[in-house]
Amino acid sequence: MSQQEPLVIPGEPRLSRRIREAANRDALGRAAVLSGQGDLAAAARFTAAALLCRGGDKPCGVCPDCRKVLRDVHPDVLTVTDPDHKNVSVEILRNVTADASVLPNEGRRKVYIFPDCSLLDGKAQNVLLKVVEDGPVHAAFLFCAANSAVLLPTIRSRTAEWKLSPPPETAAEDGQARRLCELICGGRAAELAARYEELNREEDPGIFRQMLSALDGNMNNYSAILLLEYRGTRILLPGDANRLGYGEIAPADLCAHIFKVGHHGQRDGADAALIQAVRPRAAVCCASSDRRYQSAHPELLRFLLDNGIDLWFSDCPQLPGLDLPPHEALVFSIGEEGAFQAEYTRGGSPYETAI
Ligand SMILES: [Zn+2]
Repeated sequence: MSQQEPLVIPGEPRLSRRIREAANRDALGRAAVLSGQGDLAAAARFTAAALLCRGGDKPCGVCPDCRKVLRDVHPDVLTVTDPDHKNVSVEILRNVTADASVLPNEGRRKVYIFPDCSLLDGKAQNVLLKVVEDGPVHAAFLFCAANSAVLLPTIRSRTAEWKLSPPPETAAEDGQARRLCELICGGRAAELAARYEELNREEDPGIFRQMLSALDGNMNNYSAILLLEYRGTRILLPGDANRLGYGEIAPADLCAHIFKVGHHGQRDGADAALIQAVRPRAAVCCASSDRRYQSAHPELLRFLLDNGIDLWFSDCPQLPGLDLPPHEALVFSIGEEGAFQAEYTRGGSPYETAI
């Protein structure tokens, strides 16, 4: 038999994993609130399957109980609605409490799902209180509520709360951010946004780091390359892009007085063609103090110096051949038409001392 992907609530791998872990420890309890924005019905179905599953890793998705729950045909999973009234009537809830005392038909438990708790007023909830508190052990209650505050504190204090993640604030929801993302990433914008969302949902620190590293390896050359111009002085900030990350930007558009070396000054941060296009008077290297990735690469620094470019460092350990004064900041003062001064500062507020 082939290994099946574990069942998950759509878009909720983290919550699914937490519910699964609780189910496997037989710790799902008598009642739970499923709250937040998202597919609460799917979350309730998943939790009901976890409560009734007879497989190993609950919900297994393949045992007869799971399959019936997932198809909404399990006789021991009851969805409590009141088609005749706006709010669920007290009478319906009294029937629920009476029914809860009857043993399940075929399942390990009986599960009552309340698909929208905003339809349970205070009186209705009070009818349920006793059975939620100390009803028969086979009865379980799943309350779905976008906002769990619609439930009385007396009910909430007796239930676990499983929160669905809020919908991720992705670039896709922000027109400007999306356009910027598309400009930078071209056809890969959607794929990268999806991977970023997936990363945000990952709970296991080890897997998170692996995913982050894989994503980061894909992202450097999708950095936004900024060209700032102030009083005629142009500053090129290529982010983490290496010499291949400039896409189709015309060489003339890269021309700048001050160039922050891309990719932290690793060997691939710049090459002759790029330097010929930028023609900077000064280059700034932000090397990062541990130089784990061979930032501030000696060959690249030598190449910049050989091209007559003044070299400055915003963050770099001492390297052979460099004589960096101790400093807390590197401050550029911009004058007219490309005139600027740079100095290392330390003590007090470096910006105040320099400006
Ligand atoms: Zn199962």
